Amino acid sequence: MENLRPIQIIKAYNNRDKINSILKGLCLGLFYCLVSISCGESPASTNAEKQDSSATAAESASSDPSGKVIMAIFAHPDDESTVAPILSRYVREGAKVHLVICTDGRLGVNDFTDHEAGEGLVAMRKEEMKCAAEKLGVELIHLDYHDQLRAAEGYDGHIPHVRALIKEVHQLVTDLKPDVIITWGPDGGSNHLDHRLIGATATSVYLSKIWDKNPSLYYVGRPSQSMDDEESIILRGVDESYLTTQITFTDDDLEAAIASLSCHVSQVQVDRVRERMEGRYGKDKLIYLRKFVGPQSSSDSVF
Ligand SMILES: [Zn+2]
Repeated sequence: MENLRPIQIIKAYNNRDKINSILKGLCLGLFYCLVSISCGESPASTNAEKQDSSATAAESASSDPSGKVIMAIFAHPDDESTVAPILSRYVREGAKVHLVICTDGRLGVNDFTDHEAGEGLVAMRKEEMKCAAEKLGVELIHLDYHDQLRAAEGYDGHIPHVRALIKEVHQLVTDLKPDVIITWGPDGGSNHLDHRLIGATATSVYLSKIWDKNPSLYYVGRPSQSMDDEESIILRGVDESYLTTQITFTDDDLEAAIASLSCHVSQVQVDRVRERMEGRYGKDKLIYLRKFVGPQSSSDSVF
């Protein structure tokens, strides 16, 4: 019985007992509604719902980053450059920014250096990452997971490694109590296995419970509209209509980001960093994020 007004319900039953039964049911329903409202009961709400329900009232207060906690989580040392200018901005504006880098970067070889994969590169990249974090003013948490999370070692190497990472990230969210989590979206920016896995890890941790502090989860994205070729749009694009959080930053923030990326001397050609960073953010100096939004109500249908 769907969308019947009371008069229609009455017409549907010509038996007085049935009418009485319906009226009794309506009264009981009303009674339970009143009781549940007075007792403050409400259906379980998701992190995102809680965030959204308080968003309007707290819009102006929440836009002040002072005292807020951001947890930015990425895969490799140098991945933070994707959002480095806004990390600099929020540090400057008084937020506490924790930068979590999950892998040790042991496989980060390239054709413009002669570094070999392995422990020597790990030691080098640890120092580079400390330098990069210092330039941005963020608190660095550099975990020691192998690049590609031991994927080359097969299921028995990969899965325990991934599960340990999920648990460690869960503990970090528990301890740091972030207001905001920033990570990769499903495209991983470059489709890199590690990028996508770290975004998925942060997301699964976020979804695993209703966190007390109602953090917001954001994915970094590049608008499809900014890409020239169809292949890039397919592989990495996010339609701009999803990227509704568009954050500006100052020239000083860009300078901090350039100085930060220049620390990664094993990974970048330092004399090209400025051009690369200025090209990445465009003349509008914008970083695009997609906010994770959970369901707003329950449903018994997918349609
Ligand atoms: Zn990377």
